[in-house]
Amino acid sequence: MLRTILLAAVVSLLVFSCNLETKKSQPDMNPFLSKYTTPFGVPPFGEIKNEHFLPAITEAIRQQQLEIEAIVSNPEAPTFENTLEALDASGMMLRNVDNVFENLQSANTSEELQQIAKEAAKPLSKHADDILLNQALFDRVAEVYMQKDRLDLSTEQQTLLDKTYKRFSRNGAALDDADKDKLRKINEELSILTLEFDENLLAETNEFQLIIEKKDDLAGLPQSAINAATEAATGAGHEGKWMFTLQKPSLIPFLQYAQNRDLREEIFNGYINRGNNNNNHDNKKIASREAALRVERAKLLGYNTHADYVLEVNMAKNPENVYSFLDEILEPARTMASKEAAELQKMIDAEGGNFTLQAWDWWFYAEKLKLQKYDLDEEQLRPYFELENVLKGMQAVATNLYGITFKELDNVPEYHPEVRTYEVLESDGSHIGILYMDFYPRASKSGGAWMTSYRKQYKTNGKNVAPVISMVMNFSKPTGGKPALLSFDEVTTMFHEFGHALHGLLSKCDYVSLSGTAVPRDFVELPSQVMENWAGEPEVMKSYARHYKTGESIPEALIKKIENSSKFNQGFTTLEYLSACYLDMDWHTLKESNEQDVLAFENASMEKIGMIPEIVVRYRSPYFAHIFAGGYSSGYYSYLWAEILDADAFEAFKENGIFDQETARAFRENILEKGGTDDPMTLYKNFRGREPHKKAMLKRKGLI
Ligand SMILES: [Zn+2]
Repeated sequence: MLRTILLAAVVSLLVFSCNLETKKSQPDMNPFLSKYTTPFGVPPFGEIKNEHFLPAITEAIRQQQLEIEAIVSNPEAPTFENTLEALDASGMMLRNVDNVFENLQSANTSEELQQIAKEAAKPLSKHADDILLNQALFDRVAEVYMQKDRLDLSTEQQTLLDKTYKRFSRNGAALDDADKDKLRKINEELSILTLEFDENLLAETNEFQLIIEKKDDLAGLPQSAINAATEAATGAGHEGKWMFTLQKPSLIPFLQYAQNRDLREEIFNGYINRGNNNNNHDNKKIASREAALRVERAKLLGYNTHADYVLEVNMAKNPENVYSFLDEILEPARTMASKEAAELQKMIDAEGGNFTLQAWDWWFYAEKLKLQKYDLDEEQLRPYFELENVLKGMQAVATNLYGITFKELDNVPEYHPEVRTYEVLESDGSHIGILYMDFYPRASKSGGAWMTSYRKQYKTNGKNVAPVISMVMNFSKPTGGKPALLSFDEVTTMFHEFGHALHGLLSKCDYVSLSGTAVPRDFVELPSQVMENWAGEPEVMKSYARHYKTGESIPEALIKKIENSSKFNQGFTTLEYLSACYLDMDWHTLKESNEQDVLAFENASMEKIGMIPEIVVRYRSPYFAHIFAGGYSSGYYSYLWAEILDADAFEAFKENGIFDQETARAFRENILEKGGTDDPMTLYKNFRGREPHKKAMLKRKGLI
């Protein structure tokens, strides 16, 4: 996943920032208010205190406000330089503060930080609206836009002009004052609700504990999971017991291996009821309210639905295209999932289990069936996927493809002791950027995995500003005296986020608002997903998958087993994922803004697609953070959409050699370096020489 910090820009002072306060707290001590003196200009995490954020945000808003004022009051006629370029370059301080602030909120939060986020949400939302709803500013942009054919602009400049004009016109610049006010209120309420949604979800994830007292209840679990549970229990003050949590490295092995069916049910229900416990962390009302507000906003802006509004600027263009894309895959996925369910039921029956397969049984029996069919046990693989080896192997892939190298640094400020920092270098040794990696779960970290930026690449006065990128994950920790041993799923996740990171790092753009991952949502998963392919290539795997004790390369036979089983359980995976895509689209194609009974809505949505009872939608509404707390509303389909692109793109590497320099160069120059400076289909065609074919994706999934 990718977290983007959504910023636009201008006015408003926070209530508490009266002059007196400012004098007392010596603003010159606030590290955000002066140029960073750290190595590579990374954020000075050691000096940043929570109390710095609000005054810095206030000041940064004020500065951008002045910058916008200067653009608007310029007596000269609007030009590309004095309006578009000036607007793109404005708000740099706000970017700096907000990047640190929002990233820490996801990766290392606290109650205090959550409180500050709520206080900052209103002024930030107002500031963004003040820019996008600024009539005089829009008039200047529009005036340049009208002359665009006569301006002799480069492709990147044309794109900046098009996108900026569109951003204004799509966000209410043409509304009358009364409607502008309505829009501001909606945006403000949404900005608070998304924060609350995330906060509730984190609280509910942390709150659940499955404490096991009897050793018998651990039957079936691998030693690595038991060790982690021992340490978790000790850490939580339950010495001598075992604790399982809803964090993925704890939850998934439990569902895969625990023989105690009742306990599997308990932890599974804990997971799927997050945000749905009718307590003060309830997310149902928030989800329904967000959907309603989005309908209101879409109507106000002249769109039929929120999805119409969002998709207009994506490759998919409109909801009909997304639905028909999903529909094409639904039928084969459901058929295959039903077959898989029947196979698992057969296994239960053969064992003499007198029950019907339920959702909390699926992982357990799928794991058993995999062992039976392919003689492959996930746990056999872990010893070969020591984090350090995977990390080195992953970096070696980038070196082989693009000639870039990674040098670990220990003199750079980090926001948590677990974070690792690398300098990324060009083959000639010149500096590309900084990459942070943060591997393990913490109570202060949101679930999942994502890439984000502390500083995006851009150019100012012809000088390149190097990017500072971060990858955040929730992987299995070192435990029981062993190093961190990953599952294959975690390995591919690491390659995935690394692909996003390369998109941010290798960016070569002029304008900050177009650089790196600033591309449509259904294009942004191409660079990430394509990297996953190398993780599973036998040639690559042999080089990085080495037994953590013996250093021995992963046996050929084991690689074969991984290959043979690659289509195993794909019906489940695809249908579980697809159902979440439909749920997302259904929420965002609502035409009325009345309150919804969230669970009834969800059930209807699942019924419509003929969801099979043995599978629960990948994200139920109360914990669907992608769409209610992140930027994926009407965009969850993007992963599958981008699979068409990544499967087709990787075919090019397969055809020419997976490290073919010419193909790698074409991918780097046409996709990774280009950010959002051109239409994504044009970028793709420049790389591939043609539009993508769907066949490679369907074949990979075993759907044709
Ligand atoms: Zn992603």
